[in-house]
Order: sequence, then structure tokens, then C-alpha cells
Amino acid sequence: MENYRLTKEDYETIKSHLTMRQVAEYYGYPADRKGWCRCPFHNDGHPSMLLYPDGRGFYCFSCGSGGDVISFVARLENISNAKAAKMLVDDFSLPIDLDHPSYRERREREKRYRRRKELEAWVKDALLWLSMYRQLLCEALRIPGGPHWDEALQELSIVEYRIECLRACPEDYYADRKAVRKIGAIRDRVIGWT
Ligand SMILES: [Zn+2]
Repeated sequence: MENYRLTKEDYETIKSHLTMRQVAEYYGYPADRKGWCRCPFHNDGHPSMLLYPDGRGFYCFSCGSGGDVISFVARLENISNAKAAKMLVDDFSLPIDLDHPSYRERREREKRYRRRKELEAWVKDALLWLSMYRQLLCEALRIPGGPHWDEALQELSIVEYRIECLRACPEDYYADRKAVRKIGAIRDRVIGWT
């Protein structure tokens, strides 16, 4: 890696795998729905940095900083663009051959990347079923003595706790097969709700 020079193609490949929003959020700068986030490059009291979609990078309307995912990380960590690119490949387990790893390493990297994608998809799905179940329970609580009243009393705080855990440590949650099965049961419960 020491002597490695990034090619234009490497930059493009890295950028094609990541959105500005994903990267900013990962390094501690989450953006709101419209793409505004606090600027890390000046003392920003309220969000004045805009994260553009479709690989168009970022721009701060207060201090004028702008760039792409790679220069964002380079500047944030005070490292070279090459090191920032390597960091992104590692942190996001991107299947990109930066320092010409062996076939086996490349396969490992691809596997990690696939696992990560699989986890992301599962978490998204699980959160959806959990919030639907929570919604149903909240509605049931409004009808004291109704058909789902007891269930709502018993399950609502548990569901809220599950959502919290899932958001806090998705990897741990996914690794717990019992917890994963429970999500399946909740999905069935939501589907069978009458
Ligand atoms: Zn700024």
C-alpha cells in the first residue's frame, strides 16, 4: 500500500459503491432528510453542509468546503487521498482490489461485503415488522378491554426494547438466532393480525 498510486478507476469504483450520506454518517455526521448536516470543517452551529445524491459529493455553504467521499475522509482524518480511499475500502468492506491482494483475500473481502449487504437488508426488514407491530399494539392500547389489550400491555415495551437493541447493535442482534427467529414470529403475528 505504501507505494500504491490510486488510479482514476479506483476513485470511480470506490465512489460508485458509496453515497456521500453513508460516508458522512459513518464518520459521525448524519444528515437530515434533505441532506443537510453539520460541517466538520468549521465551527458549525447548525447544519450548513449539503450532501448531494448520485455521487456529487458535498458542499458547505458557510465555509465553502466541497469535495467527494474520498476528500471528505482525507480532510476529516487529516490523511492523504490514497489513505482515505484505503480507509473507505476497509471500513465499508468494499470488494475493491487496492493493493492487489491474493485471490483468496479478494474472495474474503467479497464475502464480507455480501454479508454486510445481507445484514443491512435484514435489519431494514426487521425494523419494518417491529414498527408495524408496535403501531398495532399502540392502537390496541386505545381500546381498554379490547381483543388485543392484554397483548399490547405485555408486548409494547418489549417491542420498543427490541427496536432499540436492533438500532444500537445490528450485528449482535443478527448473530443471535433466537432473536432472529423472534422477528420471524413477529412478522407472522403482524400478517395474522385481525
Ligand atoms: Zn463548513
